[in-house]
Amino acid sequence: MKQIVLAIVCSFSFIGMSQSTDLTSQLYDTYENYKETSIGKRRIKRADIQPLIDKYSSNEKFKVTTVGKSIGGKDLSLISIGSGKTNVFLWSQMHGDEPTATQAIFDILNFFNSVDFKVEKEAILANLTVHFLPMLNPDGAELFQRRNLLGIDINRDALLLQSPESKTLKRVRDSLDADFGFNLHDQSTYYNAERTEKPATISYLAPAYNYEKDINETRGNAMKIIVFMNDILQKYAPGQVGRYNDDFEPRAFGDNIQKWGTSTILIESGGYPEDIEKQEIRKLNYTSILSAIYTIAKKSYETISIKEYEKIPENDRKLFDLKITNANYNLMGNSYTIDLGINQIEVDYPEHDSFWYSSRILDQGDLSTYYGYETLDASAYTIKQANVYPKTLNSLAEVKALNFKYLLQQGYGFVRMTTIPNNEINSPFPVHLIGPKYKIPELKLEPGINPTFLLEKDGKFEYAVINGFLVDLKTESIKVPNGMIYK
Ligand SMILES: [Zn+2]
Repeated sequence: MKQIVLAIVCSFSFIGMSQSTDLTSQLYDTYENYKETSIGKRRIKRADIQPLIDKYSSNEKFKVTTVGKSIGGKDLSLISIGSGKTNVFLWSQMHGDEPTATQAIFDILNFFNSVDFKVEKEAILANLTVHFLPMLNPDGAELFQRRNLLGIDINRDALLLQSPESKTLKRVRDSLDADFGFNLHDQSTYYNAERTEKPATISYLAPAYNYEKDINETRGNAMKIIVFMNDILQKYAPGQVGRYNDDFEPRAFGDNIQKWGTSTILIESGGYPEDIEKQEIRKLNYTSILSAIYTIAKKSYETISIKEYEKIPENDRKLFDLKITNANYNLMGNSYTIDLGINQIEVDYPEHDSFWYSSRILDQGDLSTYYGYETLDASAYTIKQANVYPKTLNSLAEVKALNFKYLLQQGYGFVRMTTIPNNEINSPFPVHLIGPKYKIPELKLEPGINPTFLLEKDGKFEYAVINGFLVDLKTESIKVPNGMIYK
């Protein structure tokens, strides 16, 4: 313990260098012991967290209260632990399709329920009472949508409280008169740290409480906690932190909760390369939020300089899933050079428990101010139309037996079937499936179309783009999550 305290004191004397502590790395390294494995994908629903809430209801260390109901009649539960005078209140998923912090909350609860980190936990629970309200918008979560059943954005309802979920959030905030509030969201994966190719894996905001954007003690303390957390993130996701614009939004909860006297920290979980289900980001939430709770308990944040807050790069939205630069493209007999920005867009299956992709060209032209999770310099390549495989097949089993890499190398990106089974929503193969009469349109690049074409060099197809996914035809195995169906 002594060592840990010493480490914190030392690191605070070098503000702006490293404030991450030994405790933080221990939390990061032992994360798997506390990860709540029953909720491992983004599309979680209220029923998925009920058994976890039940577990804490029957555990005397925790106090579980039903504090309200959603429009659809689902419980809103508050889980509290600790006996300290300082109240810390964390709420998540007021936007139904923003589940990352809900998962992290249950990881944090597992941490508190364990026998490890005894000294640190005693310090937290003696000084703080920590309250969690996970999944404030369970009806939205059911449909994996931002808005609630009334069709409103709860984060624009802090003043009029037109929705029961908003009333609950306000009432709980007021009853706790919390000293610190963590307003937990997800943001688009297409945000980046300004003028860098780094995704904004986490973005922060100490919301303003007036149009003048004044900084009083309440907001200043939120800024200090953000500086502390940013420092932790820089260790595990260097350069991948953004800061939100602090324009005052009079209807938003963060801005108002700050105004009502709770130091409010907005955390937005964004994107991280090859982390589709955002489980690495969840781990970063767990590590940084728990560390922040500890620093609040120890009051060690107090000496942090708020000047560091302004140095966090601003959020920007300049990322594509796939960026192709300098491709040669023939149009009406002439050759042009063009960049393409492509996003792999998720579409939910009817039950909203999983998804498939229907990708789109988002933009084209000079995209030199944009970045990609994946990029290809296509200056040596010419974009070519993907063609229809000449043989019509009768069953999915026949399609499955095809050598797709060979097909794509021959320039075939579409396979015709005599009938496409009615229950198929998309093609499970790295080619599109088309019905007996479907005529594929001539390739004309424009924003909005499904990106499907070949990249030719010296008469050979070396790459394919199928449903927005880049396929390197020189590699052994090829992978596209799904193709489209055109009947
Ligand atoms: Zn949100």
